[in-house]
Amino acid sequence: MKKTALFIDRDGTLIVEPPITEQVNTLDELVFLPGVLRNLHFIREKLPNLELVIVTNQDGLGTPDYPTETFERIQNKMLEVFKGEGVVFDDIKIDPTRKEENKPTRKPGTGMLTQYMDGTYDMEHCFVIGDRITDIQLAKNLGCKGILIKDRENGEKEVADNNLQDSCALVAENWDQISEFIFAGERVGTVQRTTKETDIYVRINLDGNGKTDISSGLGFFDHMLDQIGKHSGCDLTVKVKGDLNVDEHHTIEDTAIALGEAIYLALGNKRGIERYGYCLPMDDCLCQVALDFGGRPWLVWDAKFNREYVGDMPTEMFLHFFKSLSDSAKMNLNIKAEGDNEHHKIEGIFKALARAIKMAVKRDIYKYELPSTKGTL
Ligand SMILES: [Mg+2]
Repeated sequence: MKKTALFIDRDGTLIVEPPITEQVNTLDELVFLPGVLRNLHFIREKLPNLELVIVTNQDGLGTPDYPTETFERIQNKMLEVFKGEGVVFDDIKIDPTRKEENKPTRKPGTGMLTQYMDGTYDMEHCFVIGDRITDIQLAKNLGCKGILIKDRENGEKEVADNNLQDSCALVAENWDQISEFIFAGERVGTVQRTTKETDIYVRINLDGNGKTDISSGLGFFDHMLDQIGKHSGCDLTVKVKGDLNVDEHHTIEDTAIALGEAIYLALGNKRGIERYGYCLPMDDCLCQVALDFGGRPWLVWDAKFNREYVGDMPTEMFLHFFKSLSDSAKMNLNIKAEGDNEHHKIEGIFKALARAIKMAVKRDIYKYELPSTKGTL
């Protein structure tokens, strides 16, 4: 069986990089990244065969500007603290050169890592973790994927600006997200559904931040789908080309089917999830959506609409949307709504659905069990 490894940057990833000097020179400056000790302890304990390798550029190490003793004082203290938490690194690679020397050993060069590139490592399951785009470039050069530690928006932009999307598995804002990803995997569902009536692409990331990209051809329906992403915290892309020349029916029904399938795929083995969710948001309306990702479809629909349309969406399609969604996501949905303003009422239902999804998909890797006494969901 092939081996696996995490190639972990040091400054800015394990320990905080001082902003101006970008070099830790004194023990006073030695500060660990929040959660790094706890999470590397967790990874070491749960995935003992995953090798931990520090890969770091230390510009000018060994020169009068950066004496070896200075570096070692910090490095040894750092390693001592990790060791106290049960984290002993399998290998440590340090490149002392400066950028202008253009050495192949300097990240993102792979000169220090040739032993990992001889085919004995399963690069599909190896990751580079770092706080700079050069760490993602290193991942690309190694033939694995990178995890960039940065705030999501700037990180994703930097990755896109450098055309490294294919080599970046995750932009993580903290070590909790990193260990969840490495231990339990990402929760993304992608569905392409094409019939003679509709052509639909749906992608959902249950661990997103509510970013949406929606176009169904129906303005009001877009507004409702947008609620699902925004208020569930899931990233949601929905692109629909439907036969709107016939009517709205197929577009709405097939989108619900594809969305439900994408949610079902993204949930994966369902381990560690909360499973249930409910919410009672109000405006002038009381809207309640309770759900269970228990593996069986069911819909209870208790909401009446008097108008034929809200925006460009026929109100008779509301029930149909949730029925199709519940069928394809294999979830119980129990929906009740009362009130006068029909726009508020249906928007409240979509928002409540989103909040119910948010609660139900919440995952706890420290309690990574199936939430069922049956042993299956
Ligand atoms: Mg760094």
